[in-house]
Amino acid sequence: MERYKENQLKIYNSLSGQKEIFNPINNGHVGMYVCGPTVYSNVHLGNVRTFMSFDVIFRYLKHLDYKVRYVRNITDAGHLENDADEGEDKIAKKARLEQIEPMEVVQRYTVDFHNVLNNLNFLPPSIEPTATGHLIEQIEIIKMIIENGFAYEVNGSVYFDVHKYNETNEYGILSKRKLEDLINNTRELQGQSDKKNPQDFALWKNADAKHIMKWPSPWGVGFPGWHIECTAMSTKYLGEQFDIHGGGIDLKFPHHESEIAQNIAARGIAPVNYWIHTNMLEMNGQRMAKSTGNIINPNELLSGDNDKMSKAYSPSVIRFFMAQSSYRSVLDLTDAGLLASEKGFYKLMEAINSLKSVSFGNSSTFDVKEWKQKCYNAMNDDFNTPILIAHLFEGVKVINQIKEGKASLTSEDLETLKTTMNSFVFDVLGLMNEAAQNNSEKINGVVELLIKLRKEARENKDWALSDQIRDELVEIGIQLKDGKEGTTFSIN
Ligand code: AMP
Ligand code: ZN
Repeated sequence: MERYKENQLKIYNSLSGQKEIFNPINNGHVGMYVCGPTVYSNVHLGNVRTFMSFDVIFRYLKHLDYKVRYVRNITDAGHLENDADEGEDKIAKKARLEQIEPMEVVQRYTVDFHNVLNNLNFLPPSIEPTATGHLIEQIEIIKMIIENGFAYEVNGSVYFDVHKYNETNEYGILSKRKLEDLINNTRELQGQSDKKNPQDFALWKNADAKHIMKWPSPWGVGFPGWHIECTAMSTKYLGEQFDIHGGGIDLKFPHHESEIAQNIAARGIAPVNYWIHTNMLEMNGQRMAKSTGNIINPNELLSGDNDKMSKAYSPSVIRFFMAQSSYRSVLDLTDAGLLASEKGFYKLMEAINSLKSVSFGNSSTFDVKEWKQKCYNAMNDDFNTPILIAHLFEGVKVINQIKEGKASLTSEDLETLKTTMNSFVFDVLGLMNEAAQNNSEKINGVVELLIKLRKEARENKDWALSDQIRDELVEIGIQLKDGKEGTTFSIN
């Protein structure tokens, strides 16, 4: 029997602000759309957190035997620097600064995005559409919105008429904003005279001669608005109405709010049944964001080649660290937090790897069925990974007790424990069995010892020995870096 039939999944729906029982539109099938990256720079670990939350959600839905179509787009045009339809296109700006083609920018950072996600053991989405590959669909929807009277054309641009829409609908239904408040809070920006009202947003923008990314349309040469891209790509592959739409919490307004408005204006239907918004990754108590430079590059975290952490962390340790908090909580990235996760992760791996040699007994001293149910209950409760991990460690405790002869499980119960552990750890959380790297803690210890010996050599002015330690470590791929806080190392 399919697992979804015996599990009642609840999802926190940002639209209602409540946990709701998940009922997909088509029995046994799930359609999920997640806003992908704007490929104008390297992804940072904050972006990765959002996509990782959806990777775990995707994995759990699959584990429940749903047939999932997971669409995650690539935004390769139309995302302007500023939410109020102002500023340059992010990709065009990068292309101008580097004097390369916009599509070279897109290619470079799409490849980077995929590399990072591969390194971190992500499952690829079912479809990864690009915005520029769906201009025809976007133009079609814009035409429908104009026809229905919710958009107007001015000087080759098309704007969504938020005030008109709000007469019969609720603009702000998702973000819980009121149009009056938006009106009171909007400053009239210069150069916005084309819009009837400052709250209106662009569906299509006229491109001037300088603009390098532009395409023909019924309204002249221009480029699409960022919000219409996701409306076109989501409904093309998932239908006019689909199950789940996700993204970081910062996309709720205006991006997702506008997606709802566009769909209702075009087709009279709210597009999404369950809205999932992930919370932000912080570092030093401040949101990780490219704009402030408070970022860490995932590959640098993996290699240890950064000035923020004391050492390198493996892909599974990073995944484990993230899974230890709920996707709806703010998570602060710290070296201490990662170190603690590393300890926990290896403890978990050690227990799992020792399961091969654990033997069964005549009776069970632990209720495995109840424990298994608790693991499912945790994930069924809005994908509560920290609670799941707490239960997995209950399993670790039992395994260790069996090894010490303080507990026993029947062959059937032992088998259930093994398959449940494997399913959740590898299939759902996406951790990898890093038994080989199980030695990484020991390697770290050895390098720390060498760093200490080198420090002593330097204190004794034994430069030959200190250089020998540094150089021979380089030869085996370990780089020492001397800094104010002492010596750190990275492993290539
Ligand atoms: P962008 O490429 O800027 O459109 O962002 C891609 C995704 O990363 C969006 O869903 C953002 O909400 C998400 N994101 C950006 N910064 C963070 C952060 N610090 N923590 C979690 N998610 C983030
Ligand atoms: Zn989007």
